[in-house]
Amino acid sequence: MKKEEMENGACQEHDDSTGFCGLPAVPDRPLAEDIDPNREALIRYVEKKWVNKTVLHYHFLENPTSWSGEEPQRSVVRDAFDEWKALEIGLKFEEVTAPNDAEVRIAFEPGGSWSYVGRDCIDMVSDPLERTMNFGWDLTSPYGRDTALHEIGHALGFPHEHQNPIAGIVWDEAAVYAYFGGYPNNWSQQKTYYNVLRKITPTAVAGSGWDRDSIMHYQFAAGLIATPEKYQTEPLLPAPGLSSVDIGEVRKFYPPESSQPAVALEPFMSQVLQISAGEQLDFVIRPEMSRKYVMQTFGAMDTVMVLFEDDNGTPVFLEGDDDSGWVTNASIRMRLIKGRTYYLRVRLYYAHAAGQGGIMLW
Ligand SMILES: [Zn+2]
Repeated sequence: MKKEEMENGACQEHDDSTGFCGLPAVPDRPLAEDIDPNREALIRYVEKKWVNKTVLHYHFLENPTSWSGEEPQRSVVRDAFDEWKALEIGLKFEEVTAPNDAEVRIAFEPGGSWSYVGRDCIDMVSDPLERTMNFGWDLTSPYGRDTALHEIGHALGFPHEHQNPIAGIVWDEAAVYAYFGGYPNNWSQQKTYYNVLRKITPTAVAGSGWDRDSIMHYQFAAGLIATPEKYQTEPLLPAPGLSSVDIGEVRKFYPPESSQPAVALEPFMSQVLQISAGEQLDFVIRPEMSRKYVMQTFGAMDTVMVLFEDDNGTPVFLEGDDDSGWVTNASIRMRLIKGRTYYLRVRLYYAHAAGQGGIMLW
């Protein structure tokens, strides 16, 4: 692509030495074999998102020193976290100095840029000194700023928008393999398939349609997309920065704190879970007795349930369980201490019928 091919001056094209975000391949989490496709699509749409109000800690790795970024690079990443946070989402971001306190560990090894997607940061990376995100090129250009927003978008649980089945893109597959197999990406066919050609979910999820201006969308040179036909002769250049759909999606999964007051969960008093797929209910538990408790959902529902303990206003993760895609229910068994405060956050993937589920503490 050349500058004169750009539709207008607002688009931030990468120069010839920078590449595209190439995510590490992660196998799909197994679900029951006879699962309903609509149920599977909803699970896949939600499964990598954090529960809302999670504090995501991030850390800039110092080891090895070749991974350690210069201050101007780090500062672009901090600003990108701030830009997502400025949308008044319910997630919080906090920079920490110890790598094993961080869910998101950031390296600056020259080469490719990538991140694990959402909860894969903790589910797929067991070594607390291993990176979950890498920046492989200079971030101080406008394209670099968008790279930082894009990789953080992955860390928040968002996949590539050009792999959204709703986009309906028909690729010139030979051209795509040739393009990404060449300089500077030098990707294997497998990596190109994983990051570009593969559709994310097996069936379409009712959503916003194709957002070609998403921060999670690549720019594509002319000739890589067969349909829509216009991209055979012109490049697809997403507008810079976060799109209105990006903003809507992140606010949908992570609404502001004040929008969802927590409900008290008392022992042996069941609460109906009446929420839509992707939504979350928050409960507060204030035990009057120190003992082992069980928190469990019941009914034909897929949920993820996460328990936090309040530590001077900061929710600290204790335990989580995800029953999605199977007939079991999410369940946590934990000793809770009298006088302390706990938060139980439950996000619904799917329910066979509205109001057909509940939650109980005993
Ligand atoms: Zn990406």
